[in-house]
Amino acid sequence: MYDVPVLSPRSPEEAAEAFGDGSDVTVLAGGTILLPEITYGRARPKRVLMLARSGLGRVERSNGTVTIGAAVSVGELMEGDEPLATAARYVGDPEVRAQATLGGNICAPPGEAPRGDLQAPLLVLGARVRSAGNGGERTEPLEDFLAGGAKGRLVLDVSYDDIVRETGYAAFWRPHTHHYTILAVAAARANGELRVAATGAGPTAVRLASVEQSGDPEDAVKDVEPQDDPLASAWYRKRILPRLVARALEGLG
Ligand SMILES: Cc1cc2nc3c(=O)[nH]c(=O)nc-3n(C[C@H](O)[C@H](O)[C@H](O)COP(=O)(O)OP(=O)(O)OC[C@H]3O[C@@H](n4cnc5c(N)ncnc54)[C@H](O)[C@@H]3O)c2cc1C
Repeated sequence: MYDVPVLSPRSPEEAAEAFGDGSDVTVLAGGTILLPEITYGRARPKRVLMLARSGLGRVERSNGTVTIGAAVSVGELMEGDEPLATAARYVGDPEVRAQATLGGNICAPPGEAPRGDLQAPLLVLGARVRSAGNGGERTEPLEDFLAGGAKGRLVLDVSYDDIVRETGYAAFWRPHTHHYTILAVAAARANGELRVAATGAGPTAVRLASVEQSGDPEDAVKDVEPQDDPLASAWYRKRILPRLVARALEGLG
């Protein structure tokens, strides 16, 4: 056992102030990843910033934009927009979904297997991430946020345009709810623009730009570099990715 100061901000502004430039602060949202790390001594935070009462647990729909607070639970997203809702239903089990948050999902560090199942749906929704940290607040496309890594940033919310889209989602079947997703593909089409992304083909979700241009599922392997992990080999993932892309595209319209 060791003592650690716990900060419990009561508003997004307080949360950003308490986070500061992020040095020596560990964000605790739902804790489904972080708490086991602390329990087994793999993480030893110097200060913990709890988001449970930070006012970041709201979903708002206004002025043509959907804004989802970082502390909104995965379970709450199951009734929201597709393909995010379907992806949320695939995450873990009811207990995990009740605790796990959107912010924790997009900041999830790589584990034994990829574990950011909400990232691909958010990529195809064209999501933007608002975060605080060194240099102040900024809003950037999720792709840029994922490329830069969550270190030193506190995610405040994620937003996307509130427009009508055709959507599709296909995930590899899992033998048990506690198994992570091996591979999943999300697709969305709006205003003539097709967006396709995969979770499980790298440490974070990736856009499948070649498929977006050609519409050919076989092109998916041009955009990914899957790794071997305890769930599946890179070879296997490359074999099934085009099948999942085809199924996700079939779901459009
Ligand atoms: C049994 C089990 C099954 C699971 N199944 C799945 C699954 O099927 N699919 C899947 O995607 N995940 C799965 N997970 C992983 C996890 O539950 C999810 O990724 C979840 O969304 C993480 O959110 P959290 O709020 O619990 O994160 P936490 O554990 O609180 O945090 C995770 C990481 O993100 C950081 N963080 C959290 N919030 C923020 C923020 N707002 N700003 C900056 N950093 C932040 C934390 O510091 C930590 O490093 C599973 C976990 C378990 C235990």
